[in-house]
Amino acid sequence: MISIEDYIRDIQDFPKMGVVFKDITPLLANHLAIERCLELLLEKVGDEKIDKVVGIESRGFFFGMLLAQKLNAGFVPIRKPGKLPYETHKEPYLLEYGMDVLEMHEDAIKKGERILIHDDVLATGGTARAACNLVKKCGGEIVQCNFIMQIDFLCGNEKLKSYDVASVLNY
Ligand code: 5GP
Repeated sequence: MISIEDYIRDIQDFPKMGVVFKDITPLLANHLAIERCLELLLEKVGDEKIDKVVGIESRGFFFGMLLAQKLNAGFVPIRKPGKLPYETHKEPYLLEYGMDVLEMHEDAIKKGERILIHDDVLATGGTARAACNLVKKCGGEIVQCNFIMQIDFLCGNEKLKSYDVASVLNY
């Protein structure tokens, strides 16, 4: 049985000094690792009915689309400012230094739709919480925030307390 940990590598001092970045590109480069990772992410979702998977730019798009296809759900991209062509909801969020904004199309989610939020990594949780706020603005019901991995010491799940948070790997 393939172990997906073997396909995630640590990159020291990226994107800046002192940070150890979890790089998923070896996992994306191996079809057996992709298959296993998708299987494990789906196990976390269980039997929940999902109407739409929301993937966060950009690494949330890879498995987000695969999850949507397997769950017979639609896919909705959440993007950085200025990338989406139609009217958007906007959600500012705090970075370590400064602010950023995420956007989602206003008509991407209908009131009451059951939503799975997906990203590759849960670190401090600011990005995922901004994504949750965007989904709530449209009236979506967040079934789960779903990640390949979570960096435990950064306590991202503290920012997602009102949601079900599921990660395949914990570091
Ligand atoms: P947070 O807002 O939880 O601090 O950061 C999560 C976001 O930053 C996610 O969109 C994720 O893709 C990215 N991110 C933060 N740290 C890492 C990392 O070590 N590896 C990868 N692949 N992405 C990271």
